[in-house]
Amino acid sequence: MTDCLFCKIVARELPADIVLEAGRALAFRDINPQAPTHVLVVPKAHYENAAALAAADDGLADDVLKTCHAVAVKEGIAESGYRIVFNTGPQAGQTVFHVHAHVLGGRALNWPPG
Ligand code: C5P
Repeated sequence: MTDCLFCKIVARELPADIVLEAGRALAFRDINPQAPTHVLVVPKAHYENAAALAAADDGLADDVLKTCHAVAVKEGIAESGYRIVFNTGPQAGQTVFHVHAHVLGGRALNWPPG
């Protein structure tokens, strides 16, 4: 999608601090981190939200989830604990409509979220 921010990051048309690339998924640091580790994991292909990703065939959602865990391992937060968040739709706070998982950790995280 030509006007999608995250498609442009995937295409390296916009800069990003890339944490890892794993097949069909890409992980990069959030520009406005909410925790010591705050990494976004996206499928390279454009899907609007988690619902669209869940409906995708051939295990793409699985790839994204596995990449989230790989990020946690790489960041050293897999043992202490981390959170994976998909804001889905405007009321949930989704602002970028290329599905992305937030991987958050490195500090105690409150529950419930705001
Ligand atoms: O879940 P939501 O859609 O609100 O998350 C979008 C995230 O994308 C925000 O946390 C924002 O800081 C991040 N972002 C980014 N790089 C950009 C634009 C937004 O990391 N260029």
